[in-house]
Amino acid sequence: MTNMPEAKLAREAELCYATLALVTDYDVWHESEAAVSVEAVVANLMKNVATAKEVLRRVIPEIGRPRRCPCPSLLQNAIITNPAAFPPRTRKALDLLIGKYYPRPASKGRPARRAARKRSRDG
Ligand SMILES: [Zn+2]
Repeated sequence: MTNMPEAKLAREAELCYATLALVTDYDVWHESEAAVSVEAVVANLMKNVATAKEVLRRVIPEIGRPRRCPCPSLLQNAIITNPAAFPPRTRKALDLLIGKYYPRPASKGRPARRAARKRSRDG
């Protein structure tokens, strides 16, 4: 019933996020509403499908256009931990999300790459 986890994760990933929630009936929580029938739910569901299609028809052309919202840089000032305190494994795991703000120290290359370079140099 809630999409709070998705909204939070999208925020952390600097993704634009919106919810499209369409109601089929109110009888579960609304005491003054009459009991709902399957026919009423299905009728509302079909209306909701039409509404969802119309929303998508209007929104999809907007996807891919440059964003004019703060979403792409939301993490810039969100992390207060000293980057030097990031455990290397955690830092690596979060690189996709925070790498643009906290570049990892230059590596001397993985052992396999060093060995491959040495082999190609030595012939
Ligand atoms: Zn946005």
